[in-house]
Amino acid sequence: MSVLGVYGVKRAASLIYYGLHAMQHRGQEGCGIVSVNERGEMNRHRGKGLVSEIFNEQKIAELDGELAIGHVLYTGAASRSMDNIQPLFFHHGSGDFAVANNGNIVNAAKLRSWLESKGSLFHSMTDSELLAHLIKKECSEEPRIYAIIEALNLLEGAFAFLIMTKNRLYACRDRHGLHPLSIGRIGEGYVVASESCALDTMGAEFVRDVEPGEIVTIDHKGLRSSFYSQERKCKMCAMEYIYFARPDSDVDGCNVHAYRKESGRRLFKEAPADADIVIGVPDSSLSAAQGYSEESGMPYEMGLIKNKYVGRTFIQPSQDLREKGVKMKLSAVRSIVNGKRVVMVDDSIVRGTTSRRIVNMLREAGATEVHVRIASPTMTHPCFYGVDTSTLDELLLARMSVEEACKAIGADSLAFLSYDSTLKSAAGRTDMCLACFDGNYPTALFQSIEEANK
Ligand code: SF4
Repeated sequence: MSVLGVYGVKRAASLIYYGLHAMQHRGQEGCGIVSVNERGEMNRHRGKGLVSEIFNEQKIAELDGELAIGHVLYTGAASRSMDNIQPLFFHHGSGDFAVANNGNIVNAAKLRSWLESKGSLFHSMTDSELLAHLIKKECSEEPRIYAIIEALNLLEGAFAFLIMTKNRLYACRDRHGLHPLSIGRIGEGYVVASESCALDTMGAEFVRDVEPGEIVTIDHKGLRSSFYSQERKCKMCAMEYIYFARPDSDVDGCNVHAYRKESGRRLFKEAPADADIVIGVPDSSLSAAQGYSEESGMPYEMGLIKNKYVGRTFIQPSQDLREKGVKMKLSAVRSIVNGKRVVMVDDSIVRGTTSRRIVNMLREAGATEVHVRIASPTMTHPCFYGVDTSTLDELLLARMSVEEACKAIGADSLAFLSYDSTLKSAAGRTDMCLACFDGNYPTALFQSIEEANK
């Protein structure tokens, strides 16, 4: 998922449109934009599908104004009904407002039942609606920021909320800093985005990241900062560096391509393989493969090609069609891998099915040996913070040893990056969330891992 907000720029919705395009890799299930026109009215357009499928020139033109927020919904988000496509907007006597979020609140179920017991009725399963109810649970004459601070203090888990009123934008990041949120400047206006690559696309200059536990208020007075919590940590999600973010993005000050390249270098030092060429699984593993190649002296080759024009996968009823589905997305380059001992670098192993198919594809194309090197540790725990890494039962390395997994995917050898190197590949970082690799969740979970598995 990702959020995007623009304040004080003409035709804000068209800028959001370009920015959401740049962050399409963070969610393909649905998207939406809400804007505020010069009369202070909010207009929204949203739908299921890619940004290019949902919006056209006319739809964007209807969303006039200098203030807007947008959202793309992740494929793995819990519920895909239209009601859950964000941003949501709410009518209220004190003024309309809109909310969008990237993340997952782990105590949401408890808070929802508490609110329902007091009479709240929910339209969606989103944390954005939960936040809206919490902000408005008491009708107070105090400035809205107090209600926001109070509401955020009730939440546990990962969030990057954008709250938009008719003349103000609030950007709020959870106190553990689990997901990124960057601020940019464009002329006299501001942009807030889940990933810095969106700022570049929109022509905005990076200003700084929203800090863990911070609420940044943007309005005609400029930019102001407050903190909803003093208990703050820097637990950025390791998967942002490993898999999720675009290589041209900087996450908490560390460039994603540089991180992946360094992880590839370290991977070779920790798990060298004797082979002829190094290849990466496109797109997220190419930087790590380059790092592995540079450190090892083995040539980096383009042994796998991704078909960029395959959109979201369709329902594939049979095994045969599933295999074809993978081949539609990815092809082995026979002239490169034929007769070669190949090191195949990938970012992670989740269920292991894709790794098995790719290893098989490389052997069919003539590779004599396939050594799989993974630029992250063994994934043994599910994520509770909004990243769809799979359930406990489905995680291959939660069920079997590395040796067994090597056999299961049909590789000649298999090795993973250490925890230490996963952290140290991010220059200057001393901490991050590695919970899906070691089970040390930075927050209480409010449910057991087994319950979440059901
Ligand atoms: S559990 Fe894994 S995927 Fe989830 S936030 Fe932590 S590192 Fe990221």
